[in-house]
Amino acid sequence: MTAPTPLTPLTPPVGVTSGDVTVLTPAVVVIGAGPSGLSAARALAPKVDGDVLVLERESAAGGIPRHSDHPGYGIRDMRRFMSGPAYARRLVRQAEAAGAKILTNATVTNWAGERVIEATTPEGRVRVEARAVILATGARERPRPARLIPGDRAHGVYTTGHLQNLVHLRHGKVGRRAVVVGAELVSWSAALTLREAGCRTVLMTTEYPRPDSYSLFSVPGRILFRTRVATRTRVTKVIGRPQLRAVEIEDLDTGRRRIVECDTLVLTGDWIPDHELARAAGITLDPGTNGPLVDNALRTERPGVFAVGNLLHPVDTADIAAIDGAHVARSVIDWLAGRSAPAEQVRLFADAPFRWVAPKIFRPGDPAPARHRLLLWSDRYIPFPRIVLRQGGRVIARRRLWWPAAPGRVFRIPSGILRAVSPEAGPVHIGVEA
Ligand SMILES: Cc1cc2nc3c(=O)[nH]c(=O)nc-3n(C[C@H](O)[C@H](O)[C@H](O)COP(=O)(O)OP(=O)(O)OC[C@H]3O[C@@H](n4cnc5c(N)ncnc54)[C@H](O)[C@@H]3O)c2cc1C
Repeated sequence: MTAPTPLTPLTPPVGVTSGDVTVLTPAVVVIGAGPSGLSAARALAPKVDGDVLVLERESAAGGIPRHSDHPGYGIRDMRRFMSGPAYARRLVRQAEAAGAKILTNATVTNWAGERVIEATTPEGRVRVEARAVILATGARERPRPARLIPGDRAHGVYTTGHLQNLVHLRHGKVGRRAVVVGAELVSWSAALTLREAGCRTVLMTTEYPRPDSYSLFSVPGRILFRTRVATRTRVTKVIGRPQLRAVEIEDLDTGRRRIVECDTLVLTGDWIPDHELARAAGITLDPGTNGPLVDNALRTERPGVFAVGNLLHPVDTADIAAIDGAHVARSVIDWLAGRSAPAEQVRLFADAPFRWVAPKIFRPGDPAPARHRLLLWSDRYIPFPRIVLRQGGRVIARRRLWWPAAPGRVFRIPSGILRAVSPEAGPVHIGVEA
């Protein structure tokens, strides 16, 4: 990747209105004020010459944790165990205290140059001309139409994001009996929100042969919520118009179908990165994650444009997204100082049962990935996987890991395993050995 052109004063200067457009010229613009974007802004603001501006489309900064009113946030980055909203408030305070500027109600809609973006705000249009751009737009759960669930167009069908927005932020009502699709961490978060709203989770469904979240959550969860997890099942029909009355559930092994009465259906997991801006920039997407392709320094292929958080690994926990934010700061500072990326690079590929690996480009001359970890997604439960790396048809490394790979959550591999990679020997395949 090439180094930035020397800094030339942008005209008009900061905050000047040109026609009906306000032009801002920060050193760095961060798109998205979730944990990853706010942490990047916090790390960069004291270190760069110029402003660090964060643009957030919602009316308040904080990202998903703002909506997710239960404990479980801040463990690895803040060494605390906090609720989502408390964690979000703390991230905002820290970013602002570091000197970052946060503009809310500002939706970035397009690009007007390599590192120039356009945003819409209630006060009018804004053009941001920055020397570096960080994409931190997160990921969302795929809604019902994208999941191709047939049946009636019933009211009472939500994703976890919609549900938590309705219950925690708008204090709205849901029904009395819910079916939750999914049995991963976020599914239990949905069950918690439903309980708070006075709605009982009568069933959770998963296509996998075992619940996908840690037993630490799923065993007490089943007792606390008095719910059952139906493994190897899927919802085949939504019944009820205008209000949901029931769903049809299919047993994937026997093909038998049954009706479960419910007035609320929550579709959890099944994530898709919010990658529209990366696509609009023509940045190559990784077909595994559907997020932008990045290297271990979190550079995209567009010079001076970086990406962080769940946009890259849909989805991991908020602390990991936040640690990405801190990790990218060094790369952005290098870019602003005119230091270019090491030329040598190797592509990483995830072999079955892994669906994806992030980051997918390894540059041996760069610092290790964030937390010295490669992140992968597994479609199969493997208690103690023996990881194997192949390059040029040869096994170059093997390593037994003492934690499981499981569907529904990110699996981490120490990046030290990449020491065996030779930059000239072509792509590296990461798989498991029996
Ligand atoms: C229901 C649920 C429960 C969870 N529970 C936990 C938990 O207990 N513990 C934990 O650690 N993690 C939990 N997580 C995961 C955690 O919330 C995410 O890992 C974290 O929020 C990811 O941070 P991020 O910065 O990558 O993205 P996000 O938090 O999604 O932030 C992205 C931000 O970008 C903004 N944005 C997107 N596009 C634009 C645009 N075009 N213009 C301007 N702004 C834009 C969005 O509005 C959003 O605010 C949970 C997630 C969910 C959904």
